[in-house]
Amino acid sequence: MNYKELIGKDAIAQRIAEMGQEISAHYNKVGGDLLVVGLLRGSFIFMADLVRAIDYDHEIDFMTVSSYGNNTTSSGDVKIVMDLNKTIDGKHLLLVEDIVDTGNTFHNVINLLKLRQPASISVATMLNKPSRREKEIPIDFCGFDIPDEFVFGMGLDFEQKLRNLPYIAVKCD
Ligand code: 5GP
Repeated sequence: MNYKELIGKDAIAQRIAEMGQEISAHYNKVGGDLLVVGLLRGSFIFMADLVRAIDYDHEIDFMTVSSYGNNTTSSGDVKIVMDLNKTIDGKHLLLVEDIVDTGNTFHNVINLLKLRQPASISVATMLNKPSRREKEIPIDFCGFDIPDEFVFGMGLDFEQKLRNLPYIAVKCD
C-alpha cells in the first residue's frame, strides 16, 4: 500500500501548540477542576502532545469505546469498553478525540457522561470531517478540518497499523 502526507508534522505541532494556548486561556478564565479524557486508542499521540501544551493544572484519564474495527463506516452504536477511573461530578471535562467523522461516537459518549453531572463538557479533536456529520457535535477546539478521505498516522490506524506515523497520511496509487 502506498501512502502520502496530507498534513505534515510541523503543521501539526504548530496547531497543537495553538490549541494548547486556546484551551489554557479558556480554563484560566473559567477556573475549577479540569479532567482531560482521551478516547482510546486513536487519541493517544495527540493527547500526549496536547496535554504538554496546556498551561492549566489538570488530571488525565482514558476511556475506550467500541469503534469501527476494520470497517470504515460507523454503526452509530457505541459501547463503553473501558470506563474512566475517576469520578467526574463537578469537574470540567475536556474530551480528546483523534477525529470526528459522523459524530456518532461523540454524541453517545457526551450523552453518557452528562448523566454523571460534570461541571461542563468540552471537546477537542485533532481532525474534523464536517462533510460526513450525522450528529451535531459542539467542537470547542479543532485542529484541522479535512476532506472526506480515510486518514491514518498520529495515532489513527490503517487496519490497526501505521498509528506511529508522525504525520497524517492518505492512501495513494
Ligand atoms: P464517528 O463516530 O465520528 O463517525 O467516528 C469516530 C471514530 O471513527 C474515530 O475516533 C476513529 O476511530 C474512526 N475514524 C473516523 N474516520 C477515520 C479515518 O479517516 N481514519 C481512521 N483511521 N479512523 C477514522
